[in-house]
Amino acid sequence: MEQKRKNENVKRKKKVRKRKQKKTRYNKKKIFARIVLVCLFFSGISFAFNKFSSANAVEIRNERLSVETLSGMVEKTSKEASKGPLKTSGKTVYITIDDGPSKYTDQMLKILEKYNAKATFFMIDGNMKRYPQQVKNVANSTSTAGFHSVSHDVHKLYRSADSAKKEFDQCSKTYTEITGKTSKVIRIPYGSKPYTTKASYDTMVSAGYKIWDWNVDTNDWKNSSAGIMDVVKTYGNGQNVILLMHEKPQTIEAFEQIIKYYSDQGYEFAAAGQNENPKNFWLQNLSLN
Ligand SMILES: [Zn+2]
Repeated sequence: MEQKRKNENVKRKKKVRKRKQKKTRYNKKKIFARIVLVCLFFSGISFAFNKFSSANAVEIRNERLSVETLSGMVEKTSKEASKGPLKTSGKTVYITIDDGPSKYTDQMLKILEKYNAKATFFMIDGNMKRYPQQVKNVANSTSTAGFHSVSHDVHKLYRSADSAKKEFDQCSKTYTEITGKTSKVIRIPYGSKPYTTKASYDTMVSAGYKIWDWNVDTNDWKNSSAGIMDVVKTYGNGQNVILLMHEKPQTIEAFEQIIKYYSDQGYEFAAAGQNENPKNFWLQNLSLN
């Protein structure tokens, strides 16, 4: 008798447990179904919204097409782009011009001014003496005057630890004599690597010189003006471009196109600042992006 009651008790307990298990399984199913329903609801809303906005866009486009010619639209869009939101994209271009000044310097300054742009002119000592008026014109513009050695010769520049520094000291002296101003911004001929020795680099840095290299070479000294433009469009379209060019006839030919290109692309024009941290191979901060 006692045994029977015990058995019945166990059976009842088992039943209750099973019912409980069923109930939790049922609850899980219910929650899952609710989640599915909520998901369906939201995807339905977003689908309807997308359909509405794309239909709207098509309508707006059709409306514009019916009242404007295509060339008119292109002109309007590029005009809007040049003064509009693209300017805030944070893209910067440093136009850098080596080996001057020359008979082309004034033309470059004029084009820069036309586009409200600026550049950095890395000038050679002898050329500053030959074109003092152009040196003054650079000094009085929004562009930066920088130096590019006396000899432009790697063998002479690195004869001793301070020979390169001495060449830039001489450039500084010439520049101050012509303009009454000073500058510490320099570019070493052929770049600061691989020729510049550690001792020479340290000597120049200690003297306060700001050494600038580049990350896009137009190869303008051997390129046609069309070739220069190809380089600019293919390689010179990163976020932080430091464009290397020279005062050559073919560079002058392409110069306005180059400035216009960057202006249309929404770039901000920057010139190397006297207090700015320079960008060079030693500091490894030449990344295009
Ligand atoms: Zn040079």
